[in-house]
Amino acid sequence: MDKQNLWQLVLSDLELQVSKVVYQTLLAHTTLESISDSQATIGCHRPLLVNLIEKRYYQLIKKTLDDYTQKNMSLVFTTKTSPSKNPIDGPLFTIKLTPDSSVIGVNIKLDKDYTFANFAVSSSNQMAYAAATAVSKNPGTSYNPLFLYGGVGVGKTHLMQAIGHYVLGVNPKCKIIFCTGEEFTNEIIEAISTKTTTQFKKKYRQADMLLIDDVQFIAGKYAIQEEFFHTFNAIYQTKKQVVLTSDRPPEEINKLEERLKSRFEGGLTIDIGLPDFELRTAILLIKAKQRRFDLSIEHAKLLAANVDNIRKLEGLFIRVISESQTKEVPVDAELIKNILGRTVKDIPGKKRVSETEVLNAVTSYYNLKLSQLKGTRRDRFLSLPRQVLYYLLRVELGVSLLQIGEFLGGRDHTTVLHGVRKISGLLSADDKIREDIVGIKTVLFG
Ligand code: ADP
Ligand code: MG
Repeated sequence: MDKQNLWQLVLSDLELQVSKVVYQTLLAHTTLESISDSQATIGCHRPLLVNLIEKRYYQLIKKTLDDYTQKNMSLVFTTKTSPSKNPIDGPLFTIKLTPDSSVIGVNIKLDKDYTFANFAVSSSNQMAYAAATAVSKNPGTSYNPLFLYGGVGVGKTHLMQAIGHYVLGVNPKCKIIFCTGEEFTNEIIEAISTKTTTQFKKKYRQADMLLIDDVQFIAGKYAIQEEFFHTFNAIYQTKKQVVLTSDRPPEEINKLEERLKSRFEGGLTIDIGLPDFELRTAILLIKAKQRRFDLSIEHAKLLAANVDNIRKLEGLFIRVISESQTKEVPVDAELIKNILGRTVKDIPGKKRVSETEVLNAVTSYYNLKLSQLKGTRRDRFLSLPRQVLYYLLRVELGVSLLQIGEFLGGRDHTTVLHGVRKISGLLSADDKIREDIVGIKTVLFG
């Protein structure tokens, strides 16, 4: 097999093992530059990514490559020599992972944690996420403006900044303006009073991308809307991307000029719904991980079951950590219930689900055939879903290892045990697995 074909195989396998965003932005553009019996050199399309990919995906890439070569390779990562097919398609949101953060903050301040990688996707925000990633990859062409709206804490600011991170990752020199409707307003007022409106105009009209958060703030302020209208047009006409967020859709923003409304509606308007229990749990786990706090899934669920609002949930979680530290007690259900005070709702009950239903759900989630999952072929794209299946049967349904082995046609219980352990281990480290498990559980338990 030549090295290109081999790498194609490895890549299609990796694609099944990481989240779509990670695959597309980090791995899809790598190449196999050279390979010997013991060493493979992998080309990354951007120098910035060399360290990142090596740090995060060395083991995964090595294992996958070893599977195909049946050798024990060591990997070397370099900047690739062959040109990339499509440089725009490149990465990069994970600015916080680059040791030298000089790339950010060239022209804007973004929260380093508000990246796509840290954004959990579920039915309530899936459309908004898809649109935000599309806009990041092809700014100014796909949906312009992108208008995201929704209630407090649903992730509007997070998604908007994720677009900024991504675009700056591709092109650190990109002139992005990120501000709130309120800051925009204050800046105009300031410019008028100091007679510096020319500079103001110049700054905004030269932007490559304009991100305005909580744009509803400018409603009713006519001079501001006037200026905004011209700014918007100038940017829009040069095919630069505009992204806006608001707490309500354009048509419901009172005192917003008609011509602005129709401009906003001329792009893509998407609402983000309230996060459901599963999504709140996932978000909380992400927040805990960022704080390097080892929050168990059960405790995350207990908190998420009792608080609907993400901001409150985060606040409460911080309180849990700090009380556990000051009182020198462990974080457990008792401490959490104490802090929640009032009557604590239990974690939503689960429907009775049968082994066969779990089997079917896993099969269709990973797009496999039943025979593949039940079979014994040990290809990687099968072994992971199989391990997920073991895990769900054991942990969610409480089926014993022996029974699981029997259910799957006489598999050894140590194999099952190994799988369950593997997935439990991955759950705290691997977003993709967590996403998969949450996805499958949503299908099963609603
Ligand atoms: P909004 O701007 O809609 O009021 P934010 O973007 O400020 O909401 O989100 C509030 C908090 O919740 C932030 O800490 C954000 O990171 C977090 N958050 C909201 N949605 C998600 C999500 N889907 N995944 C991860 N974190 C989220
Ligand atoms: Mg916000």
